[in-house]
Amino acid sequence: MISLCQAQSIIQFHMRPLSSENCLLIEAVGKFLAQDVYAEIDVPSFDNSAMDGYAFCYDASLKSYKIVGSIAAGSHLKIALNKGETAQIFTGAPLPEHADTVIAVEQVSASGGVIQFDPDVVFKGMHVRNKASQNSKGDCIAKKGTRVGHGLIALLASCGIKHIEVYRQPVVDCIITGSELQDLGSTLSDDNIYNSNGPAIHAFLLQCGIKIQNTLAAKDEKKILRDILDNSLQKSDLLIITGGVSAGAYDFVPEVLEEIGVIKLFHKVKQKPGKPIYCGIKEHRWIFGLPGNPASVLACLNQYIKPCISGLSGDPHMFNKYVFLPAKNSWKKKSGLSHILKAKIEENQVAILEGQESFNLLPFNQCNAFVVLEEDVDIVEKGDLVKAYFE
Ligand code: AMP
Ligand code: MG
Repeated sequence: MISLCQAQSIIQFHMRPLSSENCLLIEAVGKFLAQDVYAEIDVPSFDNSAMDGYAFCYDASLKSYKIVGSIAAGSHLKIALNKGETAQIFTGAPLPEHADTVIAVEQVSASGGVIQFDPDVVFKGMHVRNKASQNSKGDCIAKKGTRVGHGLIALLASCGIKHIEVYRQPVVDCIITGSELQDLGSTLSDDNIYNSNGPAIHAFLLQCGIKIQNTLAAKDEKKILRDILDNSLQKSDLLIITGGVSAGAYDFVPEVLEEIGVIKLFHKVKQKPGKPIYCGIKEHRWIFGLPGNPASVLACLNQYIKPCISGLSGDPHMFNKYVFLPAKNSWKKKSGLSHILKAKIEENQVAILEGQESFNLLPFNQCNAFVVLEEDVDIVEKGDLVKAYFE
């Protein structure tokens, strides 16, 4: 059986971003740049004031200036200043000709069309945003592989960029297997359980910025499963299956996947929960079979599916999303398997929660993270640094 680390290396090795698409800037949020982006203009494109105040040409010998005009932001007024002259100016307004310095309105006294100030508080170039001081036309302002967040959107918009080339996000289908499952809204029959994985995966994907294409339910019958899996594989980049991947008599998923031509990358990982996890590919389509226990599913979503979505979406650092934080409590485990533990990060510490059984969802009423303890770890003392992922 391979280790969690090996499983991640295998995924990384086979990962290729999906094709790219040209996208409206605001629709690119959460996606990854498929090309370096170059500025088409200087920003700022003109010298302008960083303050509401008065603009003038700096002269160390002067401490009063005559007001000869007023320039608002967006004004196209052209004023040329002579020695000893100033113009009232507002934040973002273009500097008048010959001006190189702005003094804030709070630092002057103005009366009779003249301003006066303490010359010690002024230096040449003060409160001026020079043309091209953010970037020059032609500069590379963002690199391929960068995630498009609202900050980057602001930067690109400031350069007048309306469309960008980003990697496509995966089309995801989900198949929930298990003859014992019932959907919410129906009265629970004896010996059945509610399908909690379906809603959890749906919500998880939304948090990743992905709207699931289809969620289908499959009974534990080989023929039904085969038809559903075969059909879904034609239409998605990533297929998430829950249940039916372990060693039970009704766990048909690995066998059926092989029959429909999926190449297995691994099946079973030295981890808890989620040991029977399956991963395969068919013609660049990814297939994950997650053991059905709800806590296994949630741990595997974070450990494997989120990085896989990132990798397909063009993230060059698909697996490096953890932090090391001091443990808030001590914890014991058997060595041999990596443990993925429900946890809560608060005040720069991480608490490992009670109720780690893989059927037990109660800790998710406060869980916001997972702690991963390596195979050889058997004890964590309070204050030890542990690897944690935000949920
Ligand atoms: P399996 O991996 O199919 O052997 O399922 C393992 C355990 O998870 C069993 O107790 C199942 O009843 C339970 N389980 C499987 N799928 C779901 C689901 N969608 N929602 C809640 N529990 C499930
Ligand atoms: Mg099952």
